[in-house]
Amino acid sequence: MADRIKMDTPLVEMDGDEMTRVIWEKVKELLIEPFVELKTEYFDLGLNERERTKDEATVRAAEAIRRYGVGVKCATITPNEERVREYGLSEMYKSPNGTIRAMLGGTVFRAPILVKGIVPYIPTWKKPITIARHAYGDIYKNTEALVPPGGAAELVVTAADGGETRLPVHTFEGTAGIVQGVHNTDESIESFARSCMAFAIDTRQDLWFGTKDTISKTYDRRFRDIFQEVYDAEYADRFRDAGIEYFYTLIDDIVARVVRSEGGFIWACKNYDGDVMSDMVATAYGSLAMMSSVLVSPDGYYEYEAAHGTVQKHYIKYMKGEPTSTNSVATIYAWAGALRKRGELDGLGKLADFGLKLEIACVKAIEGGVMTGDLYEISRLDLKQKTDTVTFILEVGERLRGII
Ligand code: NAP
Ligand code: MG
Repeated sequence: MADRIKMDTPLVEMDGDEMTRVIWEKVKELLIEPFVELKTEYFDLGLNERERTKDEATVRAAEAIRRYGVGVKCATITPNEERVREYGLSEMYKSPNGTIRAMLGGTVFRAPILVKGIVPYIPTWKKPITIARHAYGDIYKNTEALVPPGGAAELVVTAADGGETRLPVHTFEGTAGIVQGVHNTDESIESFARSCMAFAIDTRQDLWFGTKDTISKTYDRRFRDIFQEVYDAEYADRFRDAGIEYFYTLIDDIVARVVRSEGGFIWACKNYDGDVMSDMVATAYGSLAMMSSVLVSPDGYYEYEAAHGTVQKHYIKYMKGEPTSTNSVATIYAWAGALRKRGELDGLGKLADFGLKLEIACVKAIEGGVMTGDLYEISRLDLKQKTDTVTFILEVGERLRGII
């Protein structure tokens, strides 16, 4: 086609596994390539290719994101023992998302995709609640032990000069018990604060943050103080200019306010809070298949993906030749987000606009009653039809042609 939208810098494209790999190819073929002269640097992160390259493929993809700035990733299998057998792996490779996040740093923002007809369990939630999870430290990098009866635990901090500070934790008299040591770093918390504040400005949404600093007067208090320092020193003016607000309160108070809210803000969460609350928020909005996700690094790199996995159960049906009705919306949004960001960074208005229209086309299809099985089951529209995986993508293509 002569008048396809041109690109400048390539996108870093990371292919993946199972049903999402099937969807990936169809989304490109039916929704992107007819409209965009797609330029990508392609990395196959499918498990076979990770095995063939001893996981070098993942590392090279992360390096390419550092080079180009924007990536889009398909869901991938994180190997467990079953997968090691299934794919004859020579190693239990780490999660590609974990490897990429470790190389880029930054924060994952997850936001639900809202459509008419799918009513959240909390009906007052009219706008998306975006969860930002601090993906470093706390209990995810803990040291813990069982303590026998009569044992005692102390916290010992050794300074660079060898000086020791010893703090009693507990003496276990007459009972066994447990003890746990956790840590975080100023550097990681600062970087988390910056990612959240930059994303709030980028998306023009208020930023909420809560910890348990009334109880944890040093540990959680440090999070609160660092956020406030970063805000005062670097973001207060920019928030004012953008007409948005930074809001800190106790985590309990935040939870109560979130439930009563209309949505439409970013909720920064400590690691554990983010782990738990993101599942709660995703479920409350109706479907994991309608969650988008973006990793934003403090150096300004962006990686877009769907929040769900490879949808293995549907893939097994697909491989048997049975019909499937797998929701491609979060994968389409990943492409849309990446193309929009690429367009913004390269000053290509048409490309950025295309990303937005791709999202609108998805919403139009579903609000017009065309949807995959997962949404069909929960949609309250009177007129609705359930489509198979590929028909849904074709229907989005129809709507896209109508608005482009
Ligand atoms: P999953 O792929 O998210 O799927 C779990 C269930 O959720 C599916 O069986 C399906 O339910 C429903 N579902 C999820 N996405 C859907 C979609 N797009 N359309 C319709 N239904 C959808 O999680 P999993 O089965 O636990 O994990 C499968 C593989 O994905 C694992 O190997 C895991 O390592 C990997 N994973 C990767 C990522 C990532 O790359 N970011 C994230 C999570 C998991 P029904 O069967 O009831 O229809
Ligand atoms: Mg979780």
